[in-house]
Amino acid sequence: MRWKDREESSNIEDRRGMSGGAKAGLGGAGLILVIVFSLITRQNPLEVISQVNSGQPDSNHAYQPSAKEESLRKFTAVILKDTETTWNEAFRSIGRDYKEPVLVMFTGQVKSGCGVADAGMGPFYCGEDEKVYIDLSFYQLLKDRFGSKGDFAQAYVIAHEVGHHVQKQLGTLDKVHAMQSRLSPKDYNALSVRLELQADYYAGVWAKQAREMASLDENDLRSALEVAKAIGDDAIQTQAQGYVVPDAFTHGTSEQRARWFLKGWESGDFRRGDTFSVRNP
Ligand SMILES: [Zn+2]
Repeated sequence: MRWKDREESSNIEDRRGMSGGAKAGLGGAGLILVIVFSLITRQNPLEVISQVNSGQPDSNHAYQPSAKEESLRKFTAVILKDTETTWNEAFRSIGRDYKEPVLVMFTGQVKSGCGVADAGMGPFYCGEDEKVYIDLSFYQLLKDRFGSKGDFAQAYVIAHEVGHHVQKQLGTLDKVHAMQSRLSPKDYNALSVRLELQADYYAGVWAKQAREMASLDENDLRSALEVAKAIGDDAIQTQAQGYVVPDAFTHGTSEQRARWFLKGWESGDFRRGDTFSVRNP
């Protein structure tokens, strides 16, 4: 995919190098993530941990991104811009304005409107402050491991989180959360799956647009989808305080996720992404 010479979003809040509280190590959730990642990549977990931890910021000094980190920042800003183009257009088509989300980049630990998160927990969306949170150190691992395949996986993850923001703008997120407060754990999870699959569908809608903007082809898509499935937020997001998607394993199966993503990619129409009224998503 092509991104190096393309326009960046200005809706980036760069909190790298700021400490969100105590100096962050890997918490329980981060540890699970590292183990999952190690299994996928057949890397020694201890090696992965040292790679993650070596990115710890020193809060006494201004943050000095490395060239690699700088390229990751740019990549993220370009993809965010793509999602803005996609969703501004989509909302215009239904006579509405799209409120662009802010994307927070962080290292170590971050305080969001939904609670405190550790680096290594994976990206997430907070509906309370309407921001997407991304820790770039995990992305660096991905990129090192998967190369250009990893590029698309990272893009997919951003587009998925932005998908939750779209759900927020359309009122779906709040509606589902209100319903969930009255449901049994089983029904609660079933509804979470539908919410996640819709965010995957929305990521597919973005990818369709990106086909031209970023010169994506089907091969990019299919090979990267494999990576994305492995590192998607069902694999990396763990039970954490006040997260939008509190259950790590209620995101649907890999098959379901790929299917809804591809549906979005094929139709390009976000209005056809109703994962709630189909009997069997
Ligand atoms: Zn999600």
